[in-house]
Amino acid sequence: MDAAKIKWFRHQLSTWGTQNLRDFPWRQTCDSYAIIVAEYLLQKTDAATVVPIYKAFLLRYSTLENLAKANINELSELLVPLGLYFRAERLQKCARIILEQYGGKIPDSEQQLLELPGIGKYTARAICSQAFNQPLAVLDTNVARILERFFGLQGERVKSRCKILWSAAEIIAPEKEVGKWNLTLLDFGAMVCRAKNPLCNDCPLSAKCDYMQTQPNDSKKILLSGGLK
Ligand code: SF4
Repeated sequence: MDAAKIKWFRHQLSTWGTQNLRDFPWRQTCDSYAIIVAEYLLQKTDAATVVPIYKAFLLRYSTLENLAKANINELSELLVPLGLYFRAERLQKCARIILEQYGGKIPDSEQQLLELPGIGKYTARAICSQAFNQPLAVLDTNVARILERFFGLQGERVKSRCKILWSAAEIIAPEKEVGKWNLTLLDFGAMVCRAKNPLCNDCPLSAKCDYMQTQPNDSKKILLSGGLK
């Protein structure tokens, strides 16, 4: 990957992030319990759908202890609108392990978080970067799509396990404020470089984007007019 192109990408995206980051309740806190709850609820679920459930969840289960002692049927019922029926059980199991093994303190290492039920590499790193300000890059389908398109990379089918894309995500991350950088990539993938109908005509990356260069001229015109789905 070209160093000058990486630097330009970082600069353009950081500027975009400063003006466009979305505001969600879990982004207004540094409380590790609230952040771990949010990351569980956000797994495979649209952020807007999560907002009311997240608020109700923290009202009812305001501490790790409350969650560990919760009635599992009531907990599951609260999470029904989010789907993934096993999420409630995993979340409660996670709370109990943290109480028993870590004295109620959310672990702040990626390795320890990975040992908790329902936590994979993305979630562990999201918690480390958001709750503990650690410089750990994340990769999800949004981030993978941006990297593949802009840098012309070809990742494997299961992006979350693709070493090339994980390595690219780490290389392009800045040294500081990686938590904010991670949020910028997630939001940019959701709002601009969308899976369908990317907003290439409004994109601050279009001048150097590989995806744009590989489009036939006619398609490029359609892309730039925002018409391709
Ligand atoms: S120009 Fe289009 S494909 Fe390239 S990064 Fe921007 S939105 Fe994505």
